[in-house]
Amino acid sequence: MRRWSELAERLAATTRTSEKTAILADYLRSLSPEELPLATIFLTGRPFAEADQRSTGLGWSAIASTVADLASVGRSALGEAYDRSSDLGIAVADVLAAAGHAPAADRSPTLPEVAAAFAAIETASGPARKAAILRELLERTDPLTAKHVVKVLGGDLRIGLREGLVEAAIARAFDRPLEAVKQAGMLVGDVGELAALARDDALASASLSLFHPLKFMLASPAEDADEIVARLGPEVWVEDKYDGIRCQLHKLGTDVRLYSRDLHDISTGYPEIVEASRGLHWDGILDGEILAWRDGTVLPFIALQTRLGRKAPTDAIRSAVPVIYVAFDALGLGPGGGAPVTPLLGRPLRERRARLDELDLPLADGDDGGRFARSYLTVAGDADALEAAFLEARARRNEGLMVKDPASIYAPGRRGLGWLKMKKALATIDCVVVGVEVGHGKRHGVLSDYTFAIRDTATGRLVNIGKAYSGLTDAEIAEMTRWFEAHTIASFGRYRQVEPTVVVEIAFDVIVRSSRHGSGFSLRFPRIARLRPDKTADEIDTVETVTALYEGLQHGPEHLVTAGARSSMDPST
Ligand code: AMP
Repeated sequence: MRRWSELAERLAATTRTSEKTAILADYLRSLSPEELPLATIFLTGRPFAEADQRSTGLGWSAIASTVADLASVGRSALGEAYDRSSDLGIAVADVLAAAGHAPAADRSPTLPEVAAAFAAIETASGPARKAAILRELLERTDPLTAKHVVKVLGGDLRIGLREGLVEAAIARAFDRPLEAVKQAGMLVGDVGELAALARDDALASASLSLFHPLKFMLASPAEDADEIVARLGPEVWVEDKYDGIRCQLHKLGTDVRLYSRDLHDISTGYPEIVEASRGLHWDGILDGEILAWRDGTVLPFIALQTRLGRKAPTDAIRSAVPVIYVAFDALGLGPGGGAPVTPLLGRPLRERRARLDELDLPLADGDDGGRFARSYLTVAGDADALEAAFLEARARRNEGLMVKDPASIYAPGRRGLGWLKMKKALATIDCVVVGVEVGHGKRHGVLSDYTFAIRDTATGRLVNIGKAYSGLTDAEIAEMTRWFEAHTIASFGRYRQVEPTVVVEIAFDVIVRSSRHGSGFSLRFPRIARLRPDKTADEIDTVETVTALYEGLQHGPEHLVTAGARSSMDPST
């Protein structure tokens, strides 16, 4: 693990992709068959393979307590170290080094020993037993190695390794064609296994296997209809963008499993979908979305939230929030009855959809009382048709559109241009910044995370509505950092309460009622559209204006137009 950690440091310090690939390829080639899959998985910043259902269950706080205990320092020492770097791994290394933690090099754990400790942490029950195993591991680990053990455990490696780069390094290490590595990578979905197949010259044996979830294909954002048509046109496929839970459905006879976007098995949470699939005549893998659905219409995402993360919903919850599976893609299909499942990933969407249509699932624009539907699909030839489809999708209470290139293949785990999502920020609200924190990653030295508030006119007080991390340029963040440092009212750990005078315009996707913030609302995907130095805190949005906006957004497109008209994006307002 020490050698792996040194490699990670070298990779982090290298900016050129070609150099990173070469360093990594040399390293991978030097590993034993036992080490190769483990080292590769750790390089993706995970203790277990992505499709592995296990997780260690050790949180930040348990890791921090274990390290503080080992170094015989208080938790605050670790907190201070963390504030300096915003990186738990670095903080752990700093604290251990300062405590003179220097175990003998011959006790340093090997990669298989670290993997065995991670597995033991997963199976141990209770935080105390888990922490004891981590402590034993860290006792033998020098500060640099401990830094990386903690980074992998915490899933926060940040050494600039894109998946494409790891694949390129695997191809180069074992002298295999990159295309063959990528192709097999799509099918096995486990980079450790992929490396082993490449080494053994067995890439061709990779196949689609049921109950091994594949990574999900992702979409790129696009707001402008003209731009979308120009990119994907002349004719594009348009589906409603459903606001639910992305879900891959695997079915072989009566064995059915559902996987979430992070490849976890969520079957027990949605028993009605599993039961309904058992009776269907086909086998295969579908991609789609679980939606809360009643009487032929989709319920807001907030309804579905009561079912999120629940392992076994009660009958009361099942009847309060009925769900449906809306399929929009087929990754592999077979006729059932034990006949083989044909992989469809590499086939164009046009063909995949034709196969999906043959399953005869009802279309998701009505109600047949079933648990299954197919996405609603139309074809658009120009920007006007796309805009019209957008409004229709909103009228069906969906988030917006997914625009797809009918010629595109299914590229697992990729955010390509084959799928574009069109959501549009329909309105923005003006808020005042009330608190700031140092950011993460390259923003760790600056105050880039803002907590903001609107005004409650009844009391005149400011009430929080959310927090946003992104949107401003580095130069703006640097300038604002200086301002906030000079205008801090009080510090609570990382959080600084600041003078409430900076107005920001916040864009978001959806407003929901929520008791999480003092305003009674929260925003989904809030982002800072821009600073509004032209506005004072007296001009920010109020609970009333946000309530009106919220109500407008609950009812179809004509209200949205009203909401859009009050948007401060409009220079005339
Ligand atoms: P976003 O989560 O905003 O990045 O948008 C991408 C997500 O939209 C996907 O991960 C799916 O969960 C979801 N989605 C909803 N409807 C569709 C659809 N018709 N096709 C593909 N993805 C969809």
